[in-house]
Amino acid sequence: MALRTAILNTQSKSTSQDTRARRDSTEGPEELEEPRRRQLIEVTIDALSEVGYVGSTLAEIASRANVSPGLVAHYFGDKDGLLAAAFRTLAHRSMQTLRLRLGGARTSRARIQAVIDAYLAPAEFDRRTGTAWLAFWGAVLHVESLRRIQRIYQRRMLSNLRHALSCLVPPAEGRSLAAMIAAMIDGVWLRAALSGWREADSESARALLTAFVDNRLGQHRAPSEMAGDATARARSSTGADRTMLTTINPATGAVLARLRVDGPREIDAAVSHAQSAQAHWAALTGAERGRILRRVADGLRARNAELAELETRDTGKPIQETSVVDVLSGAECFEYYAGLAAGIAGEHLDLGPKAFGYTRREPLGVVAGIGAWNYPLQIACWKTAPALACGNAMIFKPAELTPLTAMKLQEVMREAGVPDGVFQVVQGFAETGRLLTRHPRIRKISLTGEVSTGQAVMSDAAASLKSLTLELGGKSPLIIFDDAAVDNAVAGAMLGNFYSAGEVCSNGTRVFVHRRIKAQFLARLKERTAALRIGDPRDPRTQVGALISEEHMNKVLGCIARGRAEGARLLVGGSRVTSGELASGYFVAPTVFDACRDEMSVVREEIFGPVMAVLEFEEEAEVVARANATEFGLAAAVFTRDLTRAHRVIARLQAGTCWINHYNVTPIELPFGGVKLSGLGRENGRAALEHYTQLKSVYVALSDIEAPY
Ligand code: NDP
Repeated sequence: MALRTAILNTQSKSTSQDTRARRDSTEGPEELEEPRRRQLIEVTIDALSEVGYVGSTLAEIASRANVSPGLVAHYFGDKDGLLAAAFRTLAHRSMQTLRLRLGGARTSRARIQAVIDAYLAPAEFDRRTGTAWLAFWGAVLHVESLRRIQRIYQRRMLSNLRHALSCLVPPAEGRSLAAMIAAMIDGVWLRAALSGWREADSESARALLTAFVDNRLGQHRAPSEMAGDATARARSSTGADRTMLTTINPATGAVLARLRVDGPREIDAAVSHAQSAQAHWAALTGAERGRILRRVADGLRARNAELAELETRDTGKPIQETSVVDVLSGAECFEYYAGLAAGIAGEHLDLGPKAFGYTRREPLGVVAGIGAWNYPLQIACWKTAPALACGNAMIFKPAELTPLTAMKLQEVMREAGVPDGVFQVVQGFAETGRLLTRHPRIRKISLTGEVSTGQAVMSDAAASLKSLTLELGGKSPLIIFDDAAVDNAVAGAMLGNFYSAGEVCSNGTRVFVHRRIKAQFLARLKERTAALRIGDPRDPRTQVGALISEEHMNKVLGCIARGRAEGARLLVGGSRVTSGELASGYFVAPTVFDACRDEMSVVREEIFGPVMAVLEFEEEAEVVARANATEFGLAAAVFTRDLTRAHRVIARLQAGTCWINHYNVTPIELPFGGVKLSGLGRENGRAALEHYTQLKSVYVALSDIEAPY
């Protein structure tokens, strides 16, 4: 609203000399106005919001205030004077907010945020104030005095932005980026105003701008710098201290722990330690390794309550989830591979009477796992159990946002008898991850993370030609045919969108519903989604917890704002939840968009939050084509009672992991992973064994060599 700030401090041409004489630089217009003037200004704001600029005549104001038109003229001269005074009051309030926010901003990025937060503050979206502003915007082009002032003050807003940007980007970029931010602030506000405040509220507008600014500033930083800055913003107030990381409880903002970051020396030492430990570990029989891994499973089960609570505090996920999924899924994984360890084998090949061949499935050596923050312990287990069953040593780096439960896993391993050095946890930011991916003595990386991280890891791993398993992002389709059991399909869609507050890679976020049952589906979905219990993640009744960080919450709210701006219809949710104690955490209400189109950003981009996009379809061929029209290929599901159709459609879907009449169940026995940009390789099942071993082919001669020499 640069335009609207234009009139700040503007002296109405008709301001009485007496009043002017009493002004001094410390006073704002509101302090200066006599009670009668103030009353008339408030009446004018009311009139502007109700009858607009044209209708707000001196006579109208006089009649509303129950005074004579002469009295209004006495204070303000003419209509332009009256309106300028009213706008000066609105602008003064806006600038007070800005001053307060700038006063608390310690960094350049925070100063930019202060401008965004002030100009898109909730007060600016208040219907009365906002509509009055809108009337002013319309008048600026026709009233030269207002126009002049608007130009002056727009320059002032730009200079605030340029000044803050000058420390972050080159000067020329700073100027154009400042203009872009100002234009977006004005634009998003104007769209909200013109839609009668339906298209965006203050929160989603600010989130949209925040995501835009982060994205633009991100393009000016090196990848390693970006991760660091994001961390500093999201996790700690300690600025650029790259030697420590701070983990917080995203439900409360409370600091949980500060940990030392591992650098080149520590990584090198960990690799050397792992190398010597691995030689002994690999020399055990599979059965011996399996026996120890089985004890890890038992240890995890025995400590389920403690570990689930820690995971809940570190991730913000409800205890009703972590106590039945996160730890136990890890335990099942260790149990499964403990059972398979003794059976890891190559094959025998009959090569005729003079020879036979066989293959040996051998461990790779030292491998590294790099985890995402959504299922920290489960990811650590899914990577480590098969790696160890195959005789490798694992160095695991959890995400910087969730470093705690991997350390507990190390404890459980030690108690179970896993030899020292076979499983080690290192901590740090993306730089620590890169030390692993570039280390010449690490033979494999298994990453769970974003597509762009997978690409960076792949390129870093190329120099030492490491094997890779990449579990990356997705935007998976969930297709509901008209013969599906509607309540079951609603349950599947909710499970596939709102579990873990939507922070699940395989979520079915594109929900295609057949036209014939869509109304019925939406009605049930709305009812059941609105009834979800959002709250303290430690409360066993809570169904939806906090998102992982403030930065991530802002990204999710930005996506929601974009969805609204692109014309998706908000069915339920759509905003941050700040009631009571939730105000200090990062909670977003489960959100459903209807009337989505394939080209909308909420339909194309991974949001990784509780946001479902519902799309309508009619024909099977049509929905298959639309479901496949994405660069991702992690998961997919079909809901139908017609099993022939279910298998036919599944066979045509480009996805690594599929469900029929269910969603997001991931038994350890079934391989899990993606195609296209969603990843490489598989976790779980027997398939994972192939990714943690290398084949040695052996030819065994049974007769003398018939040499041609
Ligand atoms: P990121 O890709 O940001 O991070 C994943 C891990 O990689 C973190 O430990 C991170 O460290 C590390 N890392 C980041 N950059 C590099 C680098 N250049 N070299 C080496 N390591 C690096 O993912 P998120 O943690 O944000 O997790 C969310 C993403 O994970 C989503 O896209 C989601 O879809 C995906 N995911 C995929 C799953 C699957 O199985 N397919 C399952 C779960 C999530 P740091 O944390 O310090 O930045």
